[in-house]
Amino acid sequence: MKKYRAGIIGATGMVGQRFAVLLDSHPFFEVTAIAASPRSAGKTYTEALDGRWKLDVPMPEYIKDMIVRDASDVDSMKELVDMVFCAIDLPKAEVRALEEKYAKAEIPVVSNNSACRGLEDVPMLIPEINPEHTAVIETQKKRLGTKRGFIAVKPNCSIQSYVPLITPLLRYEPYEMVVTTYQAISGAGKTFAQWPEMIDNVIPYIGGEEEKSEKEPMKIWGKVENGVVVNAALPVITTQCIRVPVSNGHLAAIFVKFRKNPTKEQILEAWDKFEGEPQRLKLPHAPEKFITYFEENDRPQTKSEREIWGGMGITAGRLRKDTVYDWKFVGLSHNTLRGAAGGAVLSAEYLAVKGFFD
Ligand code: NAP
Repeated sequence: MKKYRAGIIGATGMVGQRFAVLLDSHPFFEVTAIAASPRSAGKTYTEALDGRWKLDVPMPEYIKDMIVRDASDVDSMKELVDMVFCAIDLPKAEVRALEEKYAKAEIPVVSNNSACRGLEDVPMLIPEINPEHTAVIETQKKRLGTKRGFIAVKPNCSIQSYVPLITPLLRYEPYEMVVTTYQAISGAGKTFAQWPEMIDNVIPYIGGEEEKSEKEPMKIWGKVENGVVVNAALPVITTQCIRVPVSNGHLAAIFVKFRKNPTKEQILEAWDKFEGEPQRLKLPHAPEKFITYFEENDRPQTKSEREIWGGMGITAGRLRKDTVYDWKFVGLSHNTLRGAAGGAVLSAEYLAVKGFFD
């Protein structure tokens, strides 16, 4: 496999740091440029971070002395990279403008940001679920007037604790769902040291999160028609998203009604057998098993289960009949690994194998 030169835009942030770790000695990608705000530009990565390293794993050696560039200087990045990963914190319109500037400079962008998720010609990928959505990249290239530049995104971290669990059950026609998510503070790019108000506290509000949690699954389950993604109409989803005092790991409590109500055995079998292209292609960050079900009543727990398969697996538990809905259960995913940088790296691995960066 050819190695691609990769850039990390927003390399100094919480998600950018995850990219730095996941791309250390990666078989497909070599980090050749890193960028962030003008505040960090011109400094070494270590100087720019100035004590802001937020992960519980050490900063990789390869990146410590790399010079951080200004993310807006696309021309100089163009010489250095074949593609970029993007995780910057800017207003949506500015993120979209910047990502399109990279794409128009013929640099493919694999993004964590939400700015382009709603566009019908931008694939929003969970590679196990909707790899066929990459077909819309051709339409996008026509819109942008590019030969190899395009944007692919990953969905919001919150939905990765329930969309993978519902997908293999779509044959039973779920039509109504209630989901409550219990979301870690790293989802806001924070640690407890930076957000002491979260110790011993729960905040019943995460700006914009419920809208994303209800809308984004419909695109993931959508079909490609006439070169664009047409969103699914069902199941309708209503959500509440709650911030809880957990460092990493988003837990979801899910209630579902089905038109063709499955048995418990059918649900467990569908989860057990569910795999996709990442597993078949043995991509470097593919979890060996996508969904793992726990029989114990008190599992999955964020602390003990979030790191399953390097934080790329989804765990489930407490599947039982409900008195109002048909079934209820819980799901868990690691928000900065599967839900952010890891999901983007897995998508990029899939795009690489399929030749999208050539
Ligand atoms: P973060 O820790 O606050 O990092 C923000 C990054 O953006 C830093 O690298 C920062 O550079 C850079 N930045 C800020 N202003 C900039 C500018 N004017 N020009 C260029 N770069 C600029 O945020 P995060 O948690 O990593 O999140 C990054 C993005 O990913 C956000 O859009 C977030 O919504 C999304 N996301 C986060 C998660 C998660 O679990 N944390 C999950 C999914 C998606 P400096 O250090 O130089 O300021």
